[in-house]
This record gives sequence, structure tokens and C-alpha cells, in this order.
Amino acid sequence: MNKAIFFDRDGTLIIDKHYPNDPNQIEYFSDCFSTLKKLQNQGYLLFIVTNQSGVAKGLITEEQLEAIHEQMQQDFEKQNINIEEYFSAPYLPTSNHYYRKPNPGMLLEAINTYNINPAQSWMLGDKISDVEAGLKSGCKSILLSQTTSDKTSNYHTCKDLSEALKIIEQA
Ligand SMILES: [Mg+2]
Repeated sequence: MNKAIFFDRDGTLIIDKHYPNDPNQIEYFSDCFSTLKKLQNQGYLLFIVTNQSGVAKGLITEEQLEAIHEQMQQDFEKQNINIEEYFSAPYLPTSNHYYRKPNPGMLLEAINTYNINPAQSWMLGDKISDVEAGLKSGCKSILLSQTTSDKTSNYHTCKDLSEALKIIEQA
């Protein structure tokens, strides 16, 4: 079986620009490429799982969303980083859609399609809904947040991707 890292997109890999609709708005966190490369070298398959309610709200089009992911794919390829698949959930928060985090649909689809063992896999995101989706799908989860870690929680908390890498390597 494979192991995987599931990344939220906005606020996790790239700076959250609130409904970005143009590839020019992509701005990677400084440790994004180095962290993904190290995880890839450790044998993890890499996925992006992103809620995109802006599509349902009419703030961005499916084509604009696709253009952003195509640009990201080119940027990652230049760094020899392979993202297996980009999953997006273009549904309203009120939809409670199975694919929209905190529901685990996007992760479970990847887990089934790519023969992934969730117990060896991780979800990383900057919102508690990311962590919930990770835990519901059986993955270990890390919340990227500036707030102090709650030692009693069933997930990890750290401030950036570099720290998340250390947590994964030490687990
Ligand atoms: Mg986010």
C-alpha cells in the first residue's frame, strides 16, 4: 500500500488570497517546495485537497480554478515535485457535500484510487475543517496555526510546513 500527504491549498501551500481567480495571485510559502520535495523523497504520494466554494458562489469559474492548478502543476514540475492529483470541492458551505471538508470525500476517493494506507498518511491544513477531514478519513493530521498546541487533542499543531515535516519524520 502507498502512503500519502494531503495538503490543503490556500493558507497551507500558498498564501490565502481569498477566492483567487488568476494564476498571478499564486504566492507560495517559502518552505513549500523544499518540504514537498523532502516528503516526496520519503516515499509519500502528494495530493492537494481544496474547498473552492467561490465556484458555487459565482466568484470564480471552473476555468479559472483549472488555470490556477495548471500553473501550480508547472511550478511544481520545475522543482521535480509530482502532485498526483488536485481535488477540489466547488460546493457551498451549507451544502454539507461529502467532498467538502470537513467531510472526508476527497481524501477517501484518493485513498481508494491510489491504494493508500490512511494510517501511514497525513492531512495538513490551516483550518480545523482540514484536520477533521483528515481524521475522518483515518489519516494523522496537522493543523498549521500560530496558536499554541493543545496537547490533549488528537492532532498535531505547528506553525509552518517545515515544522510539520519534523513532526512527520519523528512520528
Ligand atoms: Mg486553507
